[in-house]
This record gives sequence, C-alpha cells and structure tokens, in this order.
Amino acid sequence: MNSSLIHPADELVQKMGRIYHYRMTTTSGGNLSILDPDGSIWITPSRVDKGSLRAEDVVRIHADGCVEGAHPPSSEHPFHRKIYQARPDLKAVVHAHPVGLVAFSVCRMLPDTDVFPQSHLVCGRVGMAAYALPGSELLGDNIAAVFARGFNCVLLENHGVVVGGVDLQDAFERFETLEFTAQTLIRANQLGKAARLTVEQLQLAAFTRPPLEKFAPVRATTREKAARRDLARFVRRGYQQRLLVSTEGSFSARVEGEEFVITPNSADRHHIEPGDLALIRGGKSEAGKRPSRAMGLHELIYRAYPGVHAIVNARPVHATAFSAVARRLESRTIPESYIFLREVPKIPFALVYEDQEGVLDYVSPSQPVALLENNGVLILGTGVLDAFDRLEVLEATAEAILEGVKLGPLVEMDEAAIGDLRRFFLKEEI
Ligand SMILES: [Zn+2]
Repeated sequence: MNSSLIHPADELVQKMGRIYHYRMTTTSGGNLSILDPDGSIWITPSRVDKGSLRAEDVVRIHADGCVEGAHPPSSEHPFHRKIYQARPDLKAVVHAHPVGLVAFSVCRMLPDTDVFPQSHLVCGRVGMAAYALPGSELLGDNIAAVFARGFNCVLLENHGVVVGGVDLQDAFERFETLEFTAQTLIRANQLGKAARLTVEQLQLAAFTRPPLEKFAPVRATTREKAARRDLARFVRRGYQQRLLVSTEGSFSARVEGEEFVITPNSADRHHIEPGDLALIRGGKSEAGKRPSRAMGLHELIYRAYPGVHAIVNARPVHATAFSAVARRLESRTIPESYIFLREVPKIPFALVYEDQEGVLDYVSPSQPVALLENNGVLILGTGVLDAFDRLEVLEATAEAILEGVKLGPLVEMDEAAIGDLRRFFLKEEI
C-alpha cells in the first residue's frame, strides 16, 4: 500500500485503529500526528474513543496556532510541535502507552535494541526523557531535547513512548518493532541474561545484497497463483496472530522445482497481497520486486530438501526470547510440542550470514524447527499451513514454558515417553 497518497486524516485514523486493535494503547491513551508540508499539524483529538475514531474527528493545528476541527487537539500536542521544531527531518510522531514499553518506562530502564539485528536497524538506540506533567510545555521541552540528540525513539519516565519517522508508516513500524523488542526482552529476562550483539555481528546482519539478476515475469501458472494466494493469506494471518510484525518475518512457498514465491523486503506484513510476493527462479528475482534478504537461505533449503514446500523466518516474542538467552527451549515438556518441534536446536548467529550451507546441519525434514541465535526462529514445512502450524506450536510452547517457570521447576518427559512419541507419531525405528 502506498501511504504517500492517503489523506493525513485517513492515515491517522488507520494507524490509530491498528494501534488500538492490537492492544498497543488504551482508548484514552496515545496520540499521533503528521506534519503537513504547509507547516500545519494533523493530530488525533482529545477525549475521543480511539476504537471508533473517524477522519472528521482529526484536528488540524495551523502554523499560526489556529485550530481547525470538531474537537480540541490531543492535550499532548505541545510535544508533537516541539519535536518537529527540533528535528526537521521528522514528519510524523506516534505516542502511545503499550505495556511492554511502559514496563521499561516505570522501571526507568531502556530496552536494549542491540540484542536483535532488526531492532537495531529499525529503532536504533532509545533515549529517555525526564518526567514532567503530561501535556505540559516542560514535558515537550524534555522530549524534544532527547530527539534533538538524534534519537528517533524516546521513552518517557513513568509514562510511555514517543517515536518519530519520516512519515507515519515509518514511525508506526518503528513503534511496533520497539514494542515487540520490549516484550521479547521482558520474557528473555525471565530466562536469563539476553546476549547483546557485538558491533561485528550487527554489521554482518546489515549486509547489503548485490543487485539481483531479474527476469521478466510471464503469465503465472495456476500453481503459482495458488502459492501466492496461500502465502499472502498466511502472512496476513501471522500478522493478526502477532507472529509477524510490520517489519519482521520472511515467509516463502515452493511453486514447483526450485521455483518459489517469497515476501518482499521492507513491506508492511499487515497488507501483503498475492501480487506483492516475489517469484524466485534459479537465483533470479521477478523484475519489479525486492525479495526478502532471506531468499538465498530459503533457496538453499528448497534445493537440499525436495519435501520442504514452505519456510518461515519470524520473531514472535516468546520463542524469540529463547533465541537470545543461553537456556534451551524444553520441547520435551509437551507431547504436541515434541512431535511438531523435536529438539529445537539453536543456530549460531553468524551462520545464516556467513555459512548458509552450515544451516542445513541444524534443520531438515526430520528436524524442521530451530531457533536462530538472537534472531528469532526458522521453520520448514511440507506446505504453508504445516509451516504456520509449527510456528504457532513453537510460540505457544515457548509461552507455556515462560508461564510455567513462574510457577515452579518444569518436569520434562522421560526417555521412555519420548521413545513412545517417536515410535507412534514420528514412525521412527528406535
Ligand atoms: Zn501519554
């Protein structure tokens, strides 16, 4: 979706609806704004239900201070204005009270975005603004001063978060990625100490791929159309289930032979349509598309394992928490988990960038699920539904374990119980 042609009032309504719907703010908390090229600020209103906001409710504050609209502007409008004054490169601001980031804010701690490469890339370092009365000029000054130092994400002590972007889509994606980072770090903290990536590791992950060779698309086969339809549907479902976020998650499906379709790079997973997916054939991409950077790894896996028909890279919060700590994910705790996930090995961070062949030592049709060190999960499936199902089982298992450890020590199934599962469900001779 091209957000550059959407009216600012409509875009504010869309993004506020998404933030509210996915429980990233309450009905009374949070406000968004867009800086108009004429210097006016379009902003969400004060005291209007965030769950049923309409374009007519959006307020415009002109550069001379004159207010146009059916409601007063958000009471927190002073800091929006001051951020735009401090940072002329920012054209949109998201402010909300999502629980993960509020948890950090009430502890006056900053989420460490250097634990995950995508968090580092999308959010950068996070600043902290000193507490002041909500809506006050002083709070505005405190926040703008931190933005002026170059931060795009600023936590407010005992309050929430403010995120800026070059447009509202950019600010929203950064906001959502930061909240997921916070949620993941909170869960990782329950399990041990989350390992930070080194400068070298972050550089490795920020590689720019040489330009891909392209081929002109021909008329799509019905098989290709089916793969596009199924994959687009499950990418959107994955977003709705919070297994993928706007900026994270690569999902592909084999069409036939070594040909497959894959999610595009830097596209909001919420809106993926069949035509947005990139067709890959013999290492080349369909012209006019920018396939996910996971394309090379997926191609290698399809070539090595003819029985694999779908692959997902994702960073759901509970399973990703395990990817960042030393503790293994105890899949021997639940029969369904062991059957769907097996042992869940952890793939060393550098391998997916430096030695993709080495990844094949960790995953295969008989070991279809792995954690990627500080980088989420990798899942192979016999089809899109199978891969999605394993992703759901993995995330639910991780969540159950994280809840379980709050209650007491886990009890894993013994060798005899595991042996029975392997014989009866996995048809293994042991
Ligand atoms: Zn607030």
